[in-house]
Formats: sequence, structure tokens, C-alpha cells
Amino acid sequence: MAWLKLTQKALYLMQGGTNQYLQKVDLQPHNPEREQYRFNVPVDWFQSLNNPPQSMIVSLEEGEPQPVTPETPLASTLDRVITTQEWNAEPPREDFERTIPKYIVIHHSAHRNPPHAVSEGTEEGAKELARSIQKDHLYGRNWSDSGHNFLNTTGGYLLEGRQGSLEAVMEGKSVRSAHAKQDDALLSGGNSSPGIENEGNFMSFEMVETQWNSLVELCAAICHACNITADNIRGHRDFSNTQCPGDWLYNQLPRLRQAVRERLMIAKD
Ligand SMILES: [Zn+2]
Repeated sequence: MAWLKLTQKALYLMQGGTNQYLQKVDLQPHNPEREQYRFNVPVDWFQSLNNPPQSMIVSLEEGEPQPVTPETPLASTLDRVITTQEWNAEPPREDFERTIPKYIVIHHSAHRNPPHAVSEGTEEGAKELARSIQKDHLYGRNWSDSGHNFLNTTGGYLLEGRQGSLEAVMEGKSVRSAHAKQDDALLSGGNSSPGIENEGNFMSFEMVETQWNSLVELCAAICHACNITADNIRGHRDFSNTQCPGDWLYNQLPRLRQAVRERLMIAKD
């Protein structure tokens, strides 16, 4: 770990989910010659907010901090999710409970992989795949709607699954779904957490980069909106006795968590 020597110093509290800084505390090191500082953060920073800070900035300059400017704001990831209206979903058979999510649950759909992917990597193909999965869940399994909350296709298209999922996440919540059964629960809370279905079979096949990047973006956006730690990105097999999301993808979860952590570090909505 590299230590920075601070000369002009201030610690800023950044509002979670925005680029606004709320308060500033001047640092007063006891010994400016030393290269390590320890400072206390006012506890009320963490108690007075509904949405506690996800990062703090130590400014080395005089004046106000410059907010970190992400290349692509996380909110815009949710904006590009294709809604159930846009892919022309059938109406759900019931209203779903809003939940406070703890996890993100990663799945694979076990469909064919590129170059024979069902969605063919196109937007129209992605919508067609979403309709076909919904039909299977409605009529094949007699569920009330799509079982998953989001779908990520081989072309990297992101689509809403169970209806209401997108709006719920934008409000920091999820809708109760049917993607991580708890009959033989190793962990509980899967169905109250967003489930992301990834088109393809990832037992040994390695996800193409476009789809991987969309998965990172979506996970980061959900973690950010719902205040879920990247550590709680889990695979379906953590909840149920299943091969899902495939050996390869399951083994990539540490890399996914790290990519999401890095995305959250540079993005402040
Ligand atoms: Zn699964």
C-alpha cells in the first residue's frame, strides 16, 4: 500500500448516489512530518442519512473537491435496460411484493452459445428471447411471470424480466421473484433479491466480452441503487442444488465482484 503525504487536507462526505458533497472536516494531523494519518469520521455522517456514503474523498488541494466524473454514469445503465413494455411482455398474473434485496443472484439460461446464440446478438433477437423465456415460465412452469428480474443476452442487451423489477431497483428495492428456490436453501433471500439471467451455457464456455461488460455494468448499477455490497454477488448454486450458473461463470464470480468494486469506486451516479 502506498501512503500519500498530505499537506493541504480535508475529508469530504459524498452523498451516496450523487456527486454532491455534504460536509467537510479539516484534518489536523498531530505530526505533519509523519507519513501516516489516522482520523476520526463523525459518526453522525453514517447515522443521519438514509443513503450512507459509499466513498469519501480526501482532498489534497485547497478549495472544494472535484467530483469524480465517471465515463458512463451508473444510472444510465438502468436507463438502457429494455423494459417489459418495450419487449412487449404479457401481463403478469399477480402483483409482486416489493422486497429489500441483500444479494444479486447470477444465473445462466443454458441456451446455446455464440455463434449459435438464440438472440443472435441483436436487439430484436434479445426481445424475442425475453418473450420466449416468459412464455416458458408462464405456460411451461405455470409461474406468474418471468422468474428472473433481468436478462443479459450474448449481445450485451439488458432487459427487464419480472415486471416492476426495473422501477423497484431504481427505488432501491426488488420484486419477489422465482429464480432461487429455498427448498434446499443453502442461503436464504435469493428470491427477494434481483436475479440476472445470462443467455448461454457457461459450464465451460467463456462469456464473450460484450456480455461480460454488460453484466459488470448491471451488477454495479444494482449494487449502487440498492446498497448491496459486491461481496453479495452470488451464484444460483449458492442457494439451490443446481449447476447454474455453470462452472466457468461461477468460478468467475470473484473477478466479477472485483470488477464491480472498481466500477463503484470510479462512478458516483
Ligand atoms: Zn439459475
